[in-house]
Amino acid sequence: AIKAVSVHKAFGSLHVLKGIDLTVMPGTVTVMLGPSGSGKSTFLRLINQLETLTGGSIEVDGELIGYKHVAKNGREVLQTLNDKEIAAQRAKLGMVFQRFNLFPHMTALENVMEAPVHVLHMKKAEARDIAVRELERVGLSDRLDYYPVQLSGGQQQRVAIARALAMKPEIMLFDEPTSALDPELVGEVLGVMRSLAKAGMTMVCVTHEIGFAREVADQVVFMDGGVIVEQGGPEIIEHPTQERFKDFLQHVL
Ligand code: ATP
Ligand code: MG
Repeated sequence: AIKAVSVHKAFGSLHVLKGIDLTVMPGTVTVMLGPSGSGKSTFLRLINQLETLTGGSIEVDGELIGYKHVAKNGREVLQTLNDKEIAAQRAKLGMVFQRFNLFPHMTALENVMEAPVHVLHMKKAEARDIAVRELERVGLSDRLDYYPVQLSGGQQQRVAIARALAMKPEIMLFDEPTSALDPELVGEVLGVMRSLAKAGMTMVCVTHEIGFAREVADQVVFMDGGVIVEQGGPEIIEHPTQERFKDFLQHVL
C-alpha cells in the first residue's frame, strides 16, 4: 500500500504540490489524470524518492519513506535514511517512464538481467531465468537477443516493463508509458499493463488513456494546480462533478 499524507513539494519558490492525500490499497490500480504541469510526475518521483518532500509524509508498505524513527536520549526522533536504506526502499517500487531508457549497447535480455545481477547480486544463470520469464510475460520471447534499435517503441517499452518486473517490485509506477508511442503501438503496452493489473499488481498509472482508466482503474484521481480536484471510482469519468475535471475530460475524450 501507499499512504501519502499532506504531501507538499516546492522547487525554490515554485509550489508544485500543495497537500496531496492519497491512499493506494494493495492489489489495486490508481489512474492519475491531470493537465500538463499539474504535478503528476513530481508526485510519482516523490514516491520513488527521486525527489525529496518539502512537507507531509509518504508510507510504502507501512514504512515511512526517507526517514526512520530512532531513539535519542530516551526520545524518538526522525532521522534521514542513508543511501543504502533508500535503495532498499526503492527496490520495492518499479518505475516505467515515458521514454524507455534502455541501455542501447545491451540486448533485451541483458537489459532485463542488468539490475538483478548488479543490484541484487544474483547469479547470472538465475537472473537469466528471471529475465526470460519476464520477457515472456510481456510477449517478447522471440526478441531476447535484439538490441533496442532493432525493436519498435512498443517493444522497447515492454522490455522496460519486464526490466522493472525482474526486480520483483511490490508496486509499479507508470508515468505516461504510452505517450511517446505511435498510436498503433499503444495497445500492446496497455495490454501488458492490463494483464499485470489482473495478476493483482498494485499500480499507480499516470496516463491520458481514458479507456484504460475506465476499464482497469479501481481509483481515479484528477489533479490540477498541485491539488487533487476530484477522486473516486472509475464512474467519476462518466459523471465528473468538478468543472475543471469536466473541461479536462472534454479535451482528452
Ligand atoms: P506533464 O503532464 O506535462 O508530464 P506533470 O503533471 O507531470 O506534467 P510535473 O512534471 O510534475 O507535471 O511538473 C509540475 C511543475 O513542477 C511544472 O511547473 C514543472 O515545471 C515543475 N518542475 C518539475 N520538476 C522540476 C525541477 N526539477 N525543478 C524545477 N521545477 C520543476
Ligand atoms: Mg509528467
